[in-house]
Amino acid sequence: MDGSKINGKTVTEELLLEKGYRKYTGEDLDIYYSKDICEHIGNCVRGNPDVFEVGRRPWIITDNGSVEEDIRVIDTCPSGALKYIRKGDN
Ligand code: SF4
Repeated sequence: MDGSKINGKTVTEELLLEKGYRKYTGEDLDIYYSKDICEHIGNCVRGNPDVFEVGRRPWIITDNGSVEEDIRVIDTCPSGALKYIRKGDN
């Protein structure tokens, strides 16, 4: 699923926070996560455990991966629970 969009529209921080996503700030990219949407399938954790590690606080550390790598993993999330906004895109 495209982590930069919801229903074909590019996401904004305002929209994501309104929908209950939590923000995990990075230097060039912010990751957003919704625990209500997450289906616990684990693609993110398998995709890059340096960035996504269940049980760690915070469980997402955006800057442990490059922007390209984070986006690659986020796009494998099948539920739409992970989204991202690249700094400077909005
Ligand atoms: S890939 Fe998406 S649905 Fe699966 S555990 Fe990670 S956030 Fe949840």
